[in-house]
Amino acid sequence: MSNENKSIHEFDFSLICEYFSSIERQGPGSPEVTVKALSFIDGLTPQSRIADVGCGTGGQTIVLAQNAPGSIVGIDLFPLFVDGLNANARRMGLDSRVTGAVGNMDSLPFGDGELDLIWSEGAIYNIGFERGLNEWRRFLKVGGYIAVTEASWFTNERPDEINQFWLDAYPEIDTISNKLAQMERAGYTPVACFTLPESCWIEHFYVPQAAMQPDFLRRHQGNKTAEDLVANERREAELYHKYKEFYGYVFYIGKVNFLG
Ligand code: SAH
Repeated sequence: MSNENKSIHEFDFSLICEYFSSIERQGPGSPEVTVKALSFIDGLTPQSRIADVGCGTGGQTIVLAQNAPGSIVGIDLFPLFVDGLNANARRMGLDSRVTGAVGNMDSLPFGDGELDLIWSEGAIYNIGFERGLNEWRRFLKVGGYIAVTEASWFTNERPDEINQFWLDAYPEIDTISNKLAQMERAGYTPVACFTLPESCWIEHFYVPQAAMQPDFLRRHQGNKTAEDLVANERREAELYHKYKEFYGYVFYIGKVNFLG
């Protein structure tokens, strides 16, 4: 059987955690892009409450804390990632403002209107962009912001191979204009959107993976699941290099309006 289009979700969770916790980011992104997205958000103060949903080991959570006032709660499903964030926050002296907590994005531990900002890089796809935007809105104040990255098509048509790959991996991938319309329908006024540069995928995501894969494979020699996981990630990287004109991550930043 071919593993070609195997989704990451089909692999053993503990192996995935081990694999991804050894790199700084668990998805495409960069400090520069986090800071750029933050530049579109007004009105944060030391009293602001921010949630970073699907924070992973907190690469972007730390950058947020270094560049925005307020307190930040990072939420992730996996304790190993949350431990990584808390350790990073302590090391950087940010633990009075940054806390990692295990939680599920489908039942976030916040009250209505409690948050000033919801951040989520490379993670909202886990419950789906449209569902996430709709369900998380009630946690935000009117005038609060959401900032998420999401896989998006850059063109209206694309080669079959990459179309099929994404329809298997994440059928909700869509064009930027359709994603913006979904954001509007969910009760946010789009404030900005921009595509992530290739370096977010290559230098910050695939290159660090390529560097650690030989070690990971050595540690799990003969383990078919580990081999499949690496093969899967390598195939994803190859597809990215081949088809990066057709898709990528886009940062969508919206402001909660009265009408949603
Ligand atoms: N924001 C980080 C991690 C992105 S990877 C970065 O950009 O580097 C996606 C993250 O979502 C992973 O850490 C994964 O553990 C987390 N995740 C997946 N499903 C989740 C869920 N249902 N609730 C909370 N976190 C989830």
